[in-house]
Amino acid sequence: MSGKRILLVEDEPGLVLTLTDRLASEGYDVVSAGDGPSGLTRAVGEKWDLILLDVMLPGMNGFDVVKEIRQKKVTAPVIMLTARGQVVDKVLGLKLGADDYLTKPFETIELLARIEAQLRRAAAASTPGAPIYEFGDIVMDVRKAEVRRNGKIIDLSAREFLLLKYFVEHREATLTRDELLNDVWGYHSMPSTRTVDVHVAWLRQKIEPDVKHPQYIVTVHGLGYKFIG
Ligand code: CA
Repeated sequence: MSGKRILLVEDEPGLVLTLTDRLASEGYDVVSAGDGPSGLTRAVGEKWDLILLDVMLPGMNGFDVVKEIRQKKVTAPVIMLTARGQVVDKVLGLKLGADDYLTKPFETIELLARIEAQLRRAAAASTPGAPIYEFGDIVMDVRKAEVRRNGKIIDLSAREFLLLKYFVEHREATLTRDELLNDVWGYHSMPSTRTVDVHVAWLRQKIEPDVKHPQYIVTVHGLGYKFIG
């Protein structure tokens, strides 16, 4: 992951300092912008591997920034940083083109995990000849990071996409919750294995024809899950 360029658009000097230090210690090359307009200028004017974007910014808020940069065809993953309780903001941010969001205050380890997940997703998406998987009436295009049923896009979060991709790439294998946590979330300590169950439930709601009787992601009692398709 070393050498990846991250643009941090954030106006709280303390947070800028902490995050810049921590991200640099992880090998990232971090540049910060302290208000909306300069964040937008830098986001559009240079090449970034990822953009961290605060919502409440002087000059122009994060929603307008993400909307603009997507209109200007910037494809770098955007993780929005929202204040606690701004639930509507999260939905709006994702709708306007953000890839993920994190609620302040957050643990740096959580942010690092999200960054890694987005970078992995972007890398998979830009690999030429990345595979297209099909099961049932579902088509999964890894390069475009898109999943469709009968041609209609299924709206998956970044994590749900990575989880489904992992399942599909390990067809017929029994996967334990720990294995999924480790390989899809990328770290051991948190969140708990319950997180896996929650995400599997969400994914089933989106891809299974009959959620009560899953046919693709089946439960292997006492062990974990298995993808059949
Ligand atoms: Ca702010």
